[in-house]
This record gives sequence, C-alpha cells and structure tokens, in this order.
Amino acid sequence: MAKFYQQSLAERHATLIAEQRLTAAQIEQLKAAAIIAPEVADSMIENQIGQFPLPLGLSFNFLIDETSYVVPMVTEEPSVIAASSNAAKIVQANGGFTTTIQERAMIGQLIFTDVSDYEAAILLVQEKEAALIEIANAAQPSLVKRGGGLRRIETRIITDDDHQPAYFTVHLVVDVQEAMGANMMNTILEATATPLKEWLDSAVLMQILSNFADTSLVTATCRIEPHTLTTTRFEGEWLAKRIAEATRYAHLDPYRAATHNKGIMNGVDAVVLASGNDTRAIEAGAHAFAVRDGRYRGLSDWKVAENGDLVGQLTLPLPVGSVGGAISVLPLAQLTQQILGISTANKLARVIVSVGLAQNLAALKALVSEGIQKGHMSLQVKSLALSAGATESELPLVVAALLENKQLNLENAHTIIAQLRQN
Ligand code: NDP
Repeated sequence: MAKFYQQSLAERHATLIAEQRLTAAQIEQLKAAAIIAPEVADSMIENQIGQFPLPLGLSFNFLIDETSYVVPMVTEEPSVIAASSNAAKIVQANGGFTTTIQERAMIGQLIFTDVSDYEAAILLVQEKEAALIEIANAAQPSLVKRGGGLRRIETRIITDDDHQPAYFTVHLVVDVQEAMGANMMNTILEATATPLKEWLDSAVLMQILSNFADTSLVTATCRIEPHTLTTTRFEGEWLAKRIAEATRYAHLDPYRAATHNKGIMNGVDAVVLASGNDTRAIEAGAHAFAVRDGRYRGLSDWKVAENGDLVGQLTLPLPVGSVGGAISVLPLAQLTQQILGISTANKLARVIVSVGLAQNLAALKALVSEGIQKGHMSLQVKSLALSAGATESELPLVVAALLENKQLNLENAHTIIAQLRQN
C-alpha cells in the first residue's frame, strides 16, 4: 500500500474504511460536503480527504466612506453576525465609518549573523540600495509592470536581553499591489540574500516576510451621538461613558485586552476567511500590533468627546489581497467578492477594519450593560438544541422550552428532547 500522501483520494477513503476510522456512509458524507474540485483541493493541502464547510452569512448596514456594503462572513460562532449588523446600524445612523490607509506594503526580513561592524553594515546597505532595488525588482518583473516593487530598505540592529547587538536585519519594504504578497516577497528575499550576504561578508540566518505588517495599517473611525445608543433599559449617555471606560481598562490589563481583541477578531477573521485570505497572517499581525509598545493592549479606542459624542477608532495591520494565494482558487471566494461588490485589496481592508470596530462596539455595549450572555445565549440556543440531537421538527419546540425554563445547558436540552419523545 502506498503511503497516505501518495494515495489518490479514492485510495485514502478506502484506507480510512479499512482502518475502521470511518464507515462507508461517513465517506459519502465527506464526498457530499465537497465543492472544490478534488484535484484542486489536493493541490492546496497535503493528505486531503475532504472539505470542511463552515456557515457563510451576511452582515448588513455597513456604511463605509459613504458607500453601503453587504459583508459576507464565515464563522462557526453564533451571534457574531447579528452583533456586527446591529452595531453597524447604529454607526450608519450616525453617518457611517470613515477609513484611512497610510500605506499598503509588505515587509521582508533578511536576518544576518556574524556581523562584526554594525555601523559599517548600515552604511554598506545604504550604498547598495540602488543595486538591491534592481535585483529585487528583476526577481518579480510582473509586479514592477503592475506598478509595484521594492520601495525602500531599512536596517535594524537587534539586541539581546543584555542590550548587546546580536543580529543585523535588513527590511525590504515591497509594494505588492493587489496580492497579499507572502510568496512574492519570499522570492524577492531569496534573490537579494546572496549578494547582500557577500557584500556584508556575513551569514544569513533566514529570509522571510514579517507578519507584523505595520506598513499596511488601516484605520476606521466613527462618531456616535449617545442618544442613538439608548435602549429600553439603558440610557445612551451612560452607555457611552461605560464603553469608553471599558476601552481604558482593556488598554491597561492584558487579561481583558486578549478578550477585547478576540471580540474584534471575531468579525475580522470572519471577513478575512470569507474573502479567501490568510486568517493566521492577519491574527499574527494584529496581536503583534497590540503589543507594539511592550504591553499587550486592547486594539480599539473609544472616547467620549467634549460634545458628548462617543468616538471610536480601530487601527489594524491588514495585508489582505484581492488576488493570489487561495483567493483565485476557492470558488466561494469569488462569490463573496461579488456580494461585497469590491475587487481591490484596499477596499477590502477598509471593510474589514470597519467590521472589527462594529464587532467591538457590539461586544462592549452588551458587556457594560446587560452582559453578553443574554444576547449570546439566546442565539446559541439553536446550536445547543442541535448538539443535543434535536431533529428539524423538534428544533422549534426544544428552543422554546429552553428559552422558557432558562437553563441553557446541554443536560437540560437532552432532558427536554427525551420528554418530547416520550409524549
Ligand atoms: P501568490 O503566490 O499567489 O502571488 C500573487 C499572484 O497574483 C501572482 O501570480 C501574480 O501574478 C498574481 N496577480 C494578478 N494580478 C495581480 C495584481 N494586480 N497585483 C499583484 N499580483 C497579481 O500569492 P502571494 O504572494 O500574495 O502570497 C499569498 C499566499 O502566501 C497566501 O496563501 C499565504 O497563506 C501564503 N503564505 C503566507 C506566509 C505568511 O503569512 N507568513 C508565508 C508563506 C506563504 P504574477 O505572477 O504575474 O505576478
């Protein structure tokens, strides 16, 4: 028998059955879930046995830079989409989100060891800048034709824990146009590493892009009149002050900041995933940015302005692409791009950061008032009933019974289903 990675998809399925890991019926279930052509899926990852669908939903009410968007989101978590739609509606009533992008570029790192004279190394890189730009751009001529390429070179001396120089690192800042650019960047880095190593007379530890993409920062802001936050139970002005206070707290306490940022990433990841972009790259960049001054902090900022308005701001590194990677390969990524109605990475990044800010507003508003559980659990009841085994016809009855007796746990769901089946 060939090794698993050498087997065809049919052979892998047969192996799973032979080893009694899955039944023939389960293999049919796997096959039914597949929409990407098997040979495409096989070329995307290793040891592929099937596909893993996640729910795709739409978030509404997003008014961003005076344009309305319907935002596709892929998530397995209930209440994320409802929360972002609700918060976006409040922001929409206040004029919507305004976004800015300072720059859109990727950083690639060339890391050198055994450098004896760091100051001389810096001077040498400056001297060779024109030559390096030429070598880098020759490695990706199609990128240069599209208006991209190496924009600038920066040098860094990396110190150890005793503050002694330990490594010499060269940053290549590359305009990657419409791509996320990881592979392009790595090609450019490979081309520049060898001559640079010779000029510096040192050794290369590695060359790889940095996911701390602070050259791709995108900011969303919004201004909310407090009365538009008012609910049946809570007054808007009071909510605005508490949201600002909650942000201050997340700025100071990493234990809270992690959860604050997780809430933001609930929205960000869902749009990134729906667009076919790399969620891990965006997550890594966001958390590195959150700890940029040495203390892990909440990523967003909410303040009450002098006139009483609640002013929100979120800045994130968002090196997303509109082409390349899995985007052009995943059939549903094309479809979500169509729903969103945009085809540029620049606009996608503006939408993503706005969704992050909306998600954060929704979470903070709930947390500082009635608590997250009320809204969250009422939406989670359906999942709870399904996990307990409710059939399609039992589902509305189980949901109603769970909401009525308010014990939203699996044991209670099982009891309700058992009682229903006895009757
Ligand atoms: P690709 O390797 O797919 O390169 C981009 C492709 O898009 C190129 O083939 C390019 O064509 C094409 N293209 C078409 N139009 C444009 C345009 N207007 N602007 C730019 N490119 C265009 O993808 P990336 O380099 O973007 O790399 C992204 C992938 O890398 C992701 O899948 C990511 O998961 C992965 N990755 C991530 C890493 C990380 O985050 N640390 C590390 C390594 C990989 P042409 O060839 O003609 O230029």
